[in-house]
Amino acid sequence: MRARKPTQKREARRTLHYTRRSVQLAFLAAFLLLAWAASYPPSRYLRENFFLRVDPLGALSAFMRASALLPLWPAMALLLLTFLSGRFFCGWICPLGTVLEMIPSPLRLKKRRMEGIRPRGVDGAVLLPGARRPRVKYLLLLALLVLLPFGVNLLWLFDPLVIAHRSAVQVFTGSLPLLFLGLLVLALAAGPRFWCQEVCPLGALLSAAGWAGRGLREDKALLSLVKDEAACVHCGRCALACPFWITEVADTGRSGRLLAFDCALCGECLEACPADGALSLVSLGRRIAVSTGPCKPSESGGRRRDDPTCQWEGMSPSFEGAGDGEQTRTKGPGRGG
Ligand code: SF4
Ligand code: SF4
Repeated sequence: MRARKPTQKREARRTLHYTRRSVQLAFLAAFLLLAWAASYPPSRYLRENFFLRVDPLGALSAFMRASALLPLWPAMALLLLTFLSGRFFCGWICPLGTVLEMIPSPLRLKKRRMEGIRPRGVDGAVLLPGARRPRVKYLLLLALLVLLPFGVNLLWLFDPLVIAHRSAVQVFTGSLPLLFLGLLVLALAAGPRFWCQEVCPLGALLSAAGWAGRGLREDKALLSLVKDEAACVHCGRCALACPFWITEVADTGRSGRLLAFDCALCGECLEACPADGALSLVSLGRRIAVSTGPCKPSESGGRRRDDPTCQWEGMSPSFEGAGDGEQTRTKGPGRGG
């Protein structure tokens, strides 16, 4: 692989950001068009919302009603692509996620520290990097799947594509989308992607599909976020920029494909990273975007303290070096994960 000049890499980063925004808006526009076509009076030409067929939860519910396998192929294709890359759907396609992400949340504008976004245990203590915790979305997914065979279908209440479709149809037909308004309030109060990260059952299913493909190397995966730990200065900017507040991207002590299965492969962390080559977005072994910046690790490892650009108050001192095995449990405000 030929090394690219920093200016080329910077351009690639900007291209990545605007490409993702364009893709998100294009899918949102297509979704709204199909929802409009399905609203009253229904269109003669566009009768079906293809997004609802792509939804694996919706497909499972339809299969239980009709026992037909063929209509399931779009949902199966999404699960296969997620297995081969990760939860890209949430970062690039989901219309509800797109709208929520674009909400100007006070939490996003407020200066935050790493401790403020770290996941916490039930006792309120900030968890160590890599520690697992029960997540509502997985319990909710389990409950929805267990209830389906008994004829209890609560997807209309929790499935993001069903919520988005119903809300759009309600707006087009002049009624109030109360569920959607509730999600907007939640996004304002708890963070734009709080729903996606903590509650969404489809997000949980896609995270699980991405987790199943975690063994794929970056040259075999369709899309991967790859870290070069040797280039990282442990400033924490990546985690603070992450719409999903994934702290593993800063904490992981290893190089290679990031195995945080909640990662939506959006690339925002890469844009925020000030260390040259610390983070890359890789497709089938080919780098398509690379972090650039002035920061280099000190000779003894860790962040270079003599350069203020490379320091960031967001990284809790008690977690510095946690990736190297020095782990400390701290008390403090924490959330997300
Ligand atoms: S870790 Fe990076 S690529 Fe993954 S969701 Fe967060 S910002 Fe996006
Ligand atoms: S140097 Fe980059 S990868 Fe390392 S913690 Fe800072 S932003 Fe994250």
